[in-house]
Amino acid sequence: MSSADLPQTDPQQRWKGSWQDAKTRLLSNTQRTALHVVPRTARVSKLDADLLDDELTEMLREPVTHALSLVQPGMMDSWKLEIDTAIKAILFWLSVGSHRRATYGQTLQNLTYKVQGRNFHQRLHMFGILSIGGGYLWTRLLRHLSLRGWADAPAGSMRARLWALVDRLERLFKIVTLVNFLAFISTGQYKTVVERLLGLGLVYARPQMSHSVSFEFLNRQMVWHAFTEFVMFALPLVNPARARAWMVRNVRAALHLPAASVDPAVAALPEHICAICFTQTDEAQQQGSAEDANHIINPYVTECGHMYCYVCIRTKIMAEGDECCCLRCGSQVKQVCQHVEQ
Ligand SMILES: [Zn+2]
Ligand SMILES: [Zn+2]
Repeated sequence: MSSADLPQTDPQQRWKGSWQDAKTRLLSNTQRTALHVVPRTARVSKLDADLLDDELTEMLREPVTHALSLVQPGMMDSWKLEIDTAIKAILFWLSVGSHRRATYGQTLQNLTYKVQGRNFHQRLHMFGILSIGGGYLWTRLLRHLSLRGWADAPAGSMRARLWALVDRLERLFKIVTLVNFLAFISTGQYKTVVERLLGLGLVYARPQMSHSVSFEFLNRQMVWHAFTEFVMFALPLVNPARARAWMVRNVRAALHLPAASVDPAVAALPEHICAICFTQTDEAQQQGSAEDANHIINPYVTECGHMYCYVCIRTKIMAEGDECCCLRCGSQVKQVCQHVEQ
């Protein structure tokens, strides 16, 4: 195509026309995609960051507790709140307070507080003071008032009115927190009330990094957790003796073996000796005068006509699940009846 074929218009005008055309199309495309793509940070990252921070506090509390227990036993119980607050304050000062602008948990989740508007650093410091210091003071105040018995003050008194006010404030704060959390769930911005008040939003520190969270490890952890919990729940329900007897019975039936092998020593025992008592006493005793000691107490007769102590045979039947093997002949015993002397 030669230059002669092109329409004879001013090239500058032509470029402008094309640009205007492309601009309107670009704008409409941007608006259309803006409805579908939410360029916000993932809520789950923010919640995970909180969990990680809590874990860190927990990990640091342990050595402090250990160290303080050496100074004065029981000191940790009375100063737990102060120590927790101190750990949180130090962590905040070292992380958000420094150039990092994010807690350690948030750094791990690739999050940082968005730098925007004036007084950003003052707002960050205010955030720390309100969320850590404010939380501490409020909890201390509530504890102090309830220890002083303000909750039980006589109705109409100054204390009772102040307590009612504190109680109402607490409830109001909880409702506001709930509303804020619901708003967070729907919009993904401002996880806490303090963040919303100060306009501190979280953004990705490195936007080019992958935002998708890999749930592979979490899923595996959850499966194992659920599995071990199920095992812990199910284990006490399983009777090992019954399960073993059931298995032996089924295996023997499948292999067409006799129901149980009979120990000739047991089978040859005199009739007045309980075979169960005999097998339960150890060998040293058996060789001695144990035979005399294993006299049947409260004799009961099985379907196969062998006699045992009532307690021995009932326990064996119950332990092995509604039926058991006769130790003398190996046949199945389901019921016993009292032996009547003739
Ligand atoms: Zn017995
Ligand atoms: Zn028998």
